[in-house]
Amino acid sequence: MGNMIIDGKQIAQHLKEEIREQVQQLATQNGRKPRLDVIIVGENPASKTYVRSKINATEFCGMDGELIALPKTTSQEELLRIIRDLNENEAVDGILVQLPLPKHIDEQEVIHAIAPEKDVDGFHPENVARLWLNQPAIVPCTPMGIMELLKQTHTPLAGRHAVVVGRSNIVGKPIAKLLLDENCTVTIAHSRTSDLAQICREADILVVAVGRSHLITGEMIKPGATVIDVGINRTEDGKLVGDVDFESASKVAGAITPVPGGVGPMTIAMLMRNTYQCYVSRISNE
Ligand code: NAD
Repeated sequence: MGNMIIDGKQIAQHLKEEIREQVQQLATQNGRKPRLDVIIVGENPASKTYVRSKINATEFCGMDGELIALPKTTSQEELLRIIRDLNENEAVDGILVQLPLPKHIDEQEVIHAIAPEKDVDGFHPENVARLWLNQPAIVPCTPMGIMELLKQTHTPLAGRHAVVVGRSNIVGKPIAKLLLDENCTVTIAHSRTSDLAQICREADILVVAVGRSHLITGEMIKPGATVIDVGINRTEDGKLVGDVDFESASKVAGAITPVPGGVGPMTIAMLMRNTYQCYVSRISNE
């Protein structure tokens, strides 16, 4: 049995190169580049790293990336005012507010304030509803990145059993919907699922988005299954690991994503794609 390690880093790199070429063409035609504004509130170290790689990716793709770093004492009113200004700013194509936000700020209110057509994370209720109603939507980056990995590795989906572990709004729920759209039979498992191991063993495609290292081990995987590990956990010695015990799982799986270098880079590539697509729809309306 072939144990393929899915090289998300390389696939993401190719996608970003494609986007860069498309950006180059349209930017000269239209006299302006796509622009993404990323807002970060406070000093969460993981968030700062994510935000930095998002800005770096815009530069790689030939887009403008603006980092708006606000102190953790920023009031909700002030943040909402900044978002409204960006909504109205004709030069801005995409707006991303890095989560989590400090406790005194209501995340839902903030997401709701972003203009749906600039909501490159796809978290606005209008985009969520559109996704579930099969209408044109901006789709969240991580689930879209997972679908792109499955597509590029030619993983058969129709009629196969997909098990998604985790039911968050950011990953679990939207990836379940996208797999359903590809005619998978989808099971969503979560913290209250009884006999997680048995359910995982039935999966042809296993997507794990929990945030607990070593949650999934080799004996929970059907031989030959495709395993997508979304988790990002930091070990005591500072190493990044996923939710899947790579050592045991990679011996059983037919294909598996590593952490780092699997889903993470794809999330960023899909953010570039969403920003580019927001730009394209805005210039065609100008
Ligand atoms: P979340 O914390 O919002 O949700 C976790 C989910 O896991 C919950 O739905 C819960 O029901 C489920 N869960 C908790 N304990 C469980 C258990 N013992 N068994 C089964 N299910 C259990 O998580 P999230 O925002 O979806 O993120 C999940 C992980 O993915 C985190 O490690 C996060 O850092 C990572 N993540 C990575 C990317 C990326 O680009 N690679 C993007 C988003 C999130």
